[in-house]
Parts: sequence; C-alpha cells; structure tokens
Amino acid sequence: METFVNFFENIPTVYRTAILVSGLFIFWMMEGIIPLSKISYKRYKHAALNIFFMLTTVIVNLGFAFFLVRTSEYVAENQVGFLYVVVLPLWLKIIIGLLLMDLISAYLIHWILHKVKWMWKFHIIHHTDTKVDVTTSLRAHPGESVFRFVFTIIAVMVSGAPIGIVMIYQSMSAMLSQFNHANISLPAKLDLLLSYILVSPNMHKVHHHFKQPLTDTNYGNIFSVWDRLFNTFASVDSPEQELVYGLDTHMESREHENIANLLAIPFQKYRPPLNAKFGSEKNSAGKNLS
Ligand SMILES: [Zn+2]
Repeated sequence: METFVNFFENIPTVYRTAILVSGLFIFWMMEGIIPLSKISYKRYKHAALNIFFMLTTVIVNLGFAFFLVRTSEYVAENQVGFLYVVVLPLWLKIIIGLLLMDLISAYLIHWILHKVKWMWKFHIIHHTDTKVDVTTSLRAHPGESVFRFVFTIIAVMVSGAPIGIVMIYQSMSAMLSQFNHANISLPAKLDLLLSYILVSPNMHKVHHHFKQPLTDTNYGNIFSVWDRLFNTFASVDSPEQELVYGLDTHMESREHENIANLLAIPFQKYRPPLNAKFGSEKNSAGKNLS
C-alpha cells in the first residue's frame, strides 16, 4: 500500500498523461461497440472542439501546479487538515482522503457553479454539448478550470491529503469523469449496482438533460454518496429515450459549436432557464419532477 502511494507521490507527468490518454482511448473504443444512444454526429469534429478545452485546462493546471505541490508540503510540515487530526491505518487514510477531495474539489464546486449566476456562466460551456460522449469530460471553460483548481487547494487544506493521495485522486477523477460521460450502455443492473458507490454513466447523463430540474441534480464525479446524502440524486428509467443533451438556453449550433462564442459566454448576458417541456422526468422515488 505504501509503495502504491509512493509511486503516485513521484509519478512522472508522462505517466499521468498516459492515464488520461489511455482512458480516452478505451472509452472511445467502447462507445463504438456498446453505445448508449446511437447518435449520428461527426465524432472527430466534435472531439476536436472538446480537446481544445482539454488543452486550456492542461495549461491552467500546469500553470498552477506549483501551488498544489506547495500546499500539500505546507499541510504536511504544519500538520494541517483532517488526516493529521486522527490516527488511521494507511488504507483508511487513502479512502477518507479521496472522499474529502471528491466532496470539496468536485461535488461542492460543481454545486456552487450551478447556484451562483456569474459562475454558472462559465460552467454553461460544459452543459452546451448536445452530443455527450467521453470527450465531453474535457469540455470546461478555462475560468471553470481556475475555480476547480482553487477548490482543489481548499480540499488539500481541509483534508490534509499528502501529495501521493492528491495524485491518486486526480488520476481517479479524470478516469471517472471520462467513464461517466462516455456514451456507453452498461447492463442496466450493473449500472444501477455501480451507482450505489460510483457515479455511473446513466447517473451522470441525467445531469446533462437540457432543462431543469434535472440539470440541477447528480453533481458527483467519483463517489455517488454525496448526491444521495445531500438529496441531489435523480434517475430516469431509460436515459437513451428520456434525455435530451444540451441546455435549453443554448440549443442553436452556432452557439455551442463555435469556440470563440463558447469562450465568450461568461461575458454575455445571463439567460434564465426556459423550462421547455420534454418527455417525462422522474426522480429516484418515481415522483414526477416536471
Ligand atoms: Zn454541471
């Protein structure tokens, strides 16, 4: 276990890149074999746009990487954070470290991005994708990448996660994000079973429905426990039939397929949700949400 953490503590950038690229490759291949919805679209053109946003995220993260390493060193030197308050075996430290990192730097910031109007305008870019697939996981405005980075720093301070656990978390976070965005169809029972622990593809697709109230549900990235605990969990019986991806305020292709416009959206006027009627939405208890 110690060797595992030590490996991630000193993980070379090339290995981290390999994890990211191999995840993209595996899920891209799976999308060709077991697609959830048989959407007809230009896959490479769609991927190229989203890969542009992966590059801006990489630039932001590389630019701030020093602060992340320094924060982790600071918490270790000064014994700051939850993991320094309690004495735990290493395996439990890893699990609690990952849970706290996921809660603060994924669930919490994602919830805030949906609730604070000016921050939502940065997150809109992610939601405007009308063809959700593995590359959608890469689609984030550089401003959103900065917000997420700040919350990663806060998560390290609160959890006291050493750099090894932070690196395990970041690798898991990238893989799970690719997995739950991928346009893949798992056997319904397997997806359901997974969703009790992890954010499954069917669970996250609900979050990409084009209108409220479903857009404001299922904020989790790695662990599904936060949505269940904070009552933001929702499900639909048949994702491929009941869901329409995108955002009701930005359904015109000139708005969501143009990089210049996507970068400019945070500086355009706020548009309230239209709440257009579509299909039947139900929460986990089968209650009608529309
Ligand atoms: Zn969202």
